[in-house]
Amino acid sequence: MTIAAKPAAKPKQGHVEVHDFAFSYDAADGPIEAAKGVAIDVNPGEFVSIIGPSGCGKSTLLNALAGFIKPTAGTVTVDGVAVERPGADRGMVFQQYSLFPWKTVRENVEFGLKMKGVDVHNRQRNARTLLGLAGLLPFENYYPERLSGGMKQRVGIVRALATGPKVLLLDEPFGALDAQTRVIMQQILTNMWQRLKISVLFVTHDIDEAIFLSDRVYCMTARPGMIKAEIVIPLERPRHQSMMMSSEFLALRRGLVSLIREESLKAMGGEINEVALQGLGIETHGESLADVV
Ligand code: ADP
Repeated sequence: MTIAAKPAAKPKQGHVEVHDFAFSYDAADGPIEAAKGVAIDVNPGEFVSIIGPSGCGKSTLLNALAGFIKPTAGTVTVDGVAVERPGADRGMVFQQYSLFPWKTVRENVEFGLKMKGVDVHNRQRNARTLLGLAGLLPFENYYPERLSGGMKQRVGIVRALATGPKVLLLDEPFGALDAQTRVIMQQILTNMWQRLKISVLFVTHDIDEAIFLSDRVYCMTARPGMIKAEIVIPLERPRHQSMMMSSEFLALRRGLVSLIREESLKAMGGEINEVALQGLGIETHGESLADVV
């Protein structure tokens, strides 16, 4: 008798939905419209990236999902419940490491669990399991000052995961790391995501990173940020660095590069025009600016 392998259970929680999201900041000389009409979703267990030119409202959207700010218009929900404040169902990782310098690695990871009232034994067990997954167990008693940038950011990710969130939000988490460390971090994050089966929303301006990590990528316009395109990444998993040289990857890259280039030029506004380009020794030969920059 043959027994069919049981398919892996699909995660049921962590469904992010954003409808018609808009946000304006109050500035001294009037409101700054950061984003408008944004509609995105992340299915339970899906890895989705948001990419767009600097200042297009990516962090603003993530901050609304984290519950740090309230939308000026539209709705932001997780599993059908409106996000109104920060909560343990959403973990957030920032570019800056933001670890407590007076706490050890394990104490940093345990902090959220302590706040939730989890007892010492379970706190330590959960923290050590996650530190093990991130290859950090040998460093559990180190203070942050003794860690490299990549290790600090790994602690940041583990800390965000410790309370068992349904959704992990990451805002340019590897932006400050060197290229080699970044690649390793991408692999570690993917491994943890696959093990824990949570939904991930990842903000980056790195096109390769977005393609390599994601199931889908949303590309935003220049400010006020709107969704310009949604690209499905059909590359199989697990992914390997070698895939970045495949024709499929390079075709996806070409498409995203041209989408982003157009928006980056718009974000630079009037600063880039043909005269300025010629001043830099760049000839346009009648092509559109997006074709030559
Ligand atoms: P991104 O993450 O895509 O770089 P942000 O979401 O940080 O963009 O910012 C979107 C726009 O809102 C930018 O033009 C930025 O200058 C503006 N902005 C961000 N934070 C503030 C703030 N606290 N006050 C006023 N304007 C802000």
